[in-house]
Amino acid sequence: MKGLRRKEVTVYGAGMSGLIAAYNLAREGHDVLVRERETTFGGSSMFNPSTHVTPLDLEATSAYIGIDVSPAFHAVESISLYLHDLRIPLPAAGSYAVERSSRLSSLDALLYEKCLGAEVEFEFERDLVRDELGDLPPGTIIACGLNPEAYDLLGIPYITWYGWMSRGEADRSGYAWIWLDECINEYGYISYCNGLYYDLVFSYGREVDAECLQRYREFMRGAEDTDHAEWEYVSGAVPLAAPDNPRLLRDGLIMCGTISGAMDPFMGFGISGALVSGKVAAMAVEDTTAAEEEFARFTRNFASVHRFKHEVWYGLRSRVDLLEELAAVLGPQRSLRLIAEGIRKGRKGSAIPGFSPVSCS
Ligand SMILES: Cc1cc2nc3c(=O)[nH]c(=O)nc-3n(C[C@H](O)[C@H](O)[C@H](O)COP(=O)(O)OP(=O)(O)OC[C@H]3O[C@@H](n4cnc5c(N)ncnc54)[C@H](O)[C@@H]3O)c2cc1C
Repeated sequence: MKGLRRKEVTVYGAGMSGLIAAYNLAREGHDVLVRERETTFGGSSMFNPSTHVTPLDLEATSAYIGIDVSPAFHAVESISLYLHDLRIPLPAAGSYAVERSSRLSSLDALLYEKCLGAEVEFEFERDLVRDELGDLPPGTIIACGLNPEAYDLLGIPYITWYGWMSRGEADRSGYAWIWLDECINEYGYISYCNGLYYDLVFSYGREVDAECLQRYREFMRGAEDTDHAEWEYVSGAVPLAAPDNPRLLRDGLIMCGTISGAMDPFMGFGISGALVSGKVAAMAVEDTTAAEEEFARFTRNFASVHRFKHEVWYGLRSRVDLLEELAAVLGPQRSLRLIAEGIRKGRKGSAIPGFSPVSCS
């Protein structure tokens, strides 16, 4: 495919990775049409407006994707890890909060403006549907995020996650927490930016009952003097079913963003992977070999991190009481040092979109 110019390319999904792919293609001279199931850009209205937290190398990522996304990312100054109620302050350097929505202050609005400037065309309320699958030209980009129907359509293995979500207005910023408890196999977390908060307590592959939500709210009230009245039960797909989940191409179609498996399999961070994956998907339209090499580079640690999580971490994770006792014996300073060292090692051994700020070298 190398060397072709002015192709007509369709992108399904006007979320972050689809918009980045669309902009990069339009800038290179292609005619790009983005089809989105919602009434506007900015991701799924089931979850957004939302605020997400991610470790990120902002400068390297912006340079790599060819878009300065730094105005949309806001430094997190403090993160607390809670083992039940035991608080351990985490190193926050290199972590950012970002708004996902169609509001002007969101990452999506920044990317959408870029797309309009590059003459990308949009069709809203336009779903990718089963009947058209066989007719899609090779090189069509699929950037449908965490929508399980899209995974089913394309035969992509996934895990369903379930959780309780609360979102709304808040005057706080620069803070986030992560909460571990046995009633979930993942975590509860909150983040803030642009006058919004987003709070989610979730598990992979199993439902989260109302009792667990009550426990989380008790923790919030006791440890953080915070509570929200409104909670919704939500679910979605993540391509974390197997160590070999990540794949750029399926039957000639280009996978982009979360659906490609470009995410961190340990913490579930998807922002850094979606950013980078938009660029790689655009590259695949022109040169599939180069794009596959790049995709393999960025996901090279997926399998080992996936195995570590299943073979080691879930065992530890099911005994938060023991982790809590250990941390209490060690004391906050030594616990923090151990965690900081773990994060440092994880980042060193990790690639985009791993458990790390991006390394584009
Ligand atoms: C609730 C929640 C909380 C998260 N928290 C964090 C976090 O704190 N940190 C972090 O790093 N990551 C987080 N993630 C993951 C991260 O948000 C995603 O990985 C990232 O948004 C993926 O970008 P994307 O471009 O793949 O998909 P999205 O940005 O979700 O865009 C997908 C788009 O495709 C559209 N679409 C879906 N199906 C169709 C269809 N059939 N036809 C046409 N259009 C379709 C959707 O409406 C949407 O606009 C979270 C995800 C969720 C859902």
